[in-house]
Amino acid sequence: MSARVLAGPPTAEALLRDAAQRAGRLPAVPHLAIVRVGEDPASVSYVRGKARKAGEVGLRSTVHVLPETASQAELLALIAALNTDDDVNGLLVQLPLPAHIAEAAVLHAIDPRKDVDGFHPLNVGELWAGRPSLTPCTPAGILFLLRHHAIPLSGTRAVIVGRSSLVGRPLAALLLEADATVTVAHSRTRDLGSVTRAADLLVVAVGQPGLITPDMVKPGATVIDVGINRVVDAQGKGHLVGDVHPDVAGVAGALTPVPGGVGPLTVAQLLANTVHAAELQAAGHLQS
Ligand code: NDP
Repeated sequence: MSARVLAGPPTAEALLRDAAQRAGRLPAVPHLAIVRVGEDPASVSYVRGKARKAGEVGLRSTVHVLPETASQAELLALIAALNTDDDVNGLLVQLPLPAHIAEAAVLHAIDPRKDVDGFHPLNVGELWAGRPSLTPCTPAGILFLLRHHAIPLSGTRAVIVGRSSLVGRPLAALLLEADATVTVAHSRTRDLGSVTRAADLLVVAVGQPGLITPDMVKPGATVIDVGINRVVDAQGKGHLVGDVHPDVAGVAGALTPVPGGVGPLTVAQLLANTVHAAELQAAGHLQS
């Protein structure tokens, strides 16, 4: 039997439709400001994709580019200006930053009410205190995907492989909020297969092609493959693959493909977060 495919693009469209409807009820079109430092090709491409998608769903976006040599003080001054600009609802700084800039200082500097990436310590704390507000996009997008496909969460055993601040940790908090029993595995986990085999819901966010093999998956489990890995085949052609071996499709009950699974949801959730930030600001939440 082959697993049901949890396709990302139509799910992302549903999330975007919902966000666009909510945006239509706001006093002004939500505005996302994106800051990029330097010309890292992946960052250039990600930022372009985010701005393009914002336009497609009728949100405003502006991209602010600083040179690779910009100082931390210059970046903080730009963030301060965008923080106090009432016309800007959402603000994100594309990561990674050049090595001479302290990422933590930058993430602290973003107004938590505009923090559409959900990385500010206040938003991280609210999430772990059981009051999620602006939450990191990939985990929030995964929750939307699971709910959209009516995957049961309450009382189920969820195992997340990977404990990054970007994916694994915030997803653990969101799944706890959804009443799952959550285990987080990582590179020091002993006998990973015995942990993953207990999962009704297995989420893998590691960055190692084929890490999860069929023998590590409980028959019928839902498997969410967050990994995005570039591999080159025998003909020298490049491909994107996930962390889950393709043969897992014969064991799992439902599975996200790579590409075309979690990826599209991340950008859609960013725009949903921008609308949410504008809603919070319109309602006067967290006024300083
Ligand atoms: P990180 O490198 O920050 O974290 C990887 C995690 O995997 C770490 O917690 C690490 O453990 C753990 N790990 C490494 N090796 C093993 C192993 N052999 N067994 C178990 N755990 C292991 O990665 P990210 O969380 O940022 O990203 C993970 C993957 O997801 C990447 O492929 C990335 O490209 C992809 N990604 C996809 C997104 C999307 O939109 N689809 C968005 C974000 C990421 P330890 O903490 O002990 O080092």
